[in-house]
Amino acid sequence: MQYISTRTGGSGAPSSRAIVQGLAADGGLFVPQSFPRVEYESVLGCASYAELSAKIMGVFLTDYTEAELREITAGAYGEQFTSPLIAPVAKLSESCSVLELFHGPTLAFKDMALQALPRLMPAALKKTGETRKVFILVATSGDTGKAALEGFKDVEGTAISVFYPVSGVSDAQRRQMVTQEGSNVHVCAVEGNFDDAQTGVKRIFSDDEFASRIDQNGYVLSSANSINWGRLVPQIAYYYHAYCELVKSGRISAGEQINFCVPTGNFGNILAGYYAKRMGLPVNKLICASNSNNVLCDFFGTGVYDRNREFFKTSSPSMDILISSNLERLLFEAADRDPAKVMSWMDSLKARGSYEVGQEIGSKLKDEFFAAWSDDTRSNATLARIFKERSYLMDTHTAVAQCAYEDYVEATGDCRHTVIVSTASAFKFAPDVLSAIEPNRPAEKDEFAYIDALSKLTGQKVPDALAQLAGKPSLHTGVCKKEDMARVVLAQMA
Ligand SMILES: *Cc1c(COP(=O)(O)O)cnc(C)c1O
Repeated sequence: MQYISTRTGGSGAPSSRAIVQGLAADGGLFVPQSFPRVEYESVLGCASYAELSAKIMGVFLTDYTEAELREITAGAYGEQFTSPLIAPVAKLSESCSVLELFHGPTLAFKDMALQALPRLMPAALKKTGETRKVFILVATSGDTGKAALEGFKDVEGTAISVFYPVSGVSDAQRRQMVTQEGSNVHVCAVEGNFDDAQTGVKRIFSDDEFASRIDQNGYVLSSANSINWGRLVPQIAYYYHAYCELVKSGRISAGEQINFCVPTGNFGNILAGYYAKRMGLPVNKLICASNSNNVLCDFFGTGVYDRNREFFKTSSPSMDILISSNLERLLFEAADRDPAKVMSWMDSLKARGSYEVGQEIGSKLKDEFFAAWSDDTRSNATLARIFKERSYLMDTHTAVAQCAYEDYVEATGDCRHTVIVSTASAFKFAPDVLSAIEPNRPAEKDEFAYIDALSKLTGQKVPDALAQLAGKPSLHTGVCKKEDMARVVLAQMA
């Protein structure tokens, strides 16, 4: 399987090259030349999540051997997950289940990919003959940063630098990052929001002079954001896994079509679901859930993507994004893989902050996607209602998806089984989750008091990964201006 760029097509690169580079040379994103058909029956009998994941990844990562992928996934989906199923599928009602992707070491769905990518990277370096050290540059809205740090810490041949928006992440998220240990890790706050951090990282990536400068120091840049194909490919597996779990438990019948509802930010998670559908998984609709930063919802409604709008800080911070990078990959498919079209839209996005895909493509997208959004008031009330009525505790992001699911059912009357993709542990967002359930409760003294209070209220144990943070010192206290990110990176390399 070869990988081509969304902006110029090109002759293709093997997956190891796509993974090492992160971004295509023309600024586009790598996509596979085709989507092989994979029947869910072919992975239904897998004995573990690791085995299923190796099989799905194997159809895309054809320059890795089967044995390599089995070893990589066995390491990625092992005891660092607190659930032996890795991603259990909870039953919410007869027609609705929750795919829990937050049982990994950092309590968010990013672990599903970021336990695998750092294990794919050293092998990719060998395969491509790359002798320089890979410097992983990450912009994070909160969860990617910690998951990438945890995945890449002390991985041979790599170093990692994470930039997060200074007041755009939750206390638990920040604390998780600034306490990160490891000999090859760097963390710095950026004055601005996530889009500022992401734009800064993209600017460094497209700076040729910067590239040649670090080349002299023996480094090459790569990305652990979901623009990297190595981030997306492990995510396709859990859509297959969810489907198989529903069949095995008898909640759906074999071959029955289902919907997935995904709390969306950078469009990486839901895009993997779209790819699974393209590969033949029986999926009806993909429901794209946004918070008040509802740029995607408007896009699916009108065919116009317009980032020129107010940016809201919400209680689902990992979705506070106005530029969804991975939408570019969907546009490439929707435009029948015409890179010139994608290039013109992306140029327009850069120049004017907007683009329009037109009626035909817009209506094609509507066949596959349903989009809805909810503000904090509504998603918090929904979180509380689901907890009280169903005794199921959702985090603030998953609650946004629950709202979109309810909108979908109301708008369509579709009663197909729907899987809500749950992206984080509620404990990671304890203050907001608590005040959603008990709006009038007095403030607690710090982050950990909220976590303990949530544990008392729900009877659920505090996840070890959070409990352990309490005693750890802050090791990374730097803050920089967005214009200074390149300089910060150079200093980190020195
Ligand atoms: C990253 C993240 C999202 C958004 O996922 P995308 O792949 O960027 O769309 C949603 N919820 C949580 C908790 C996240 O960490």
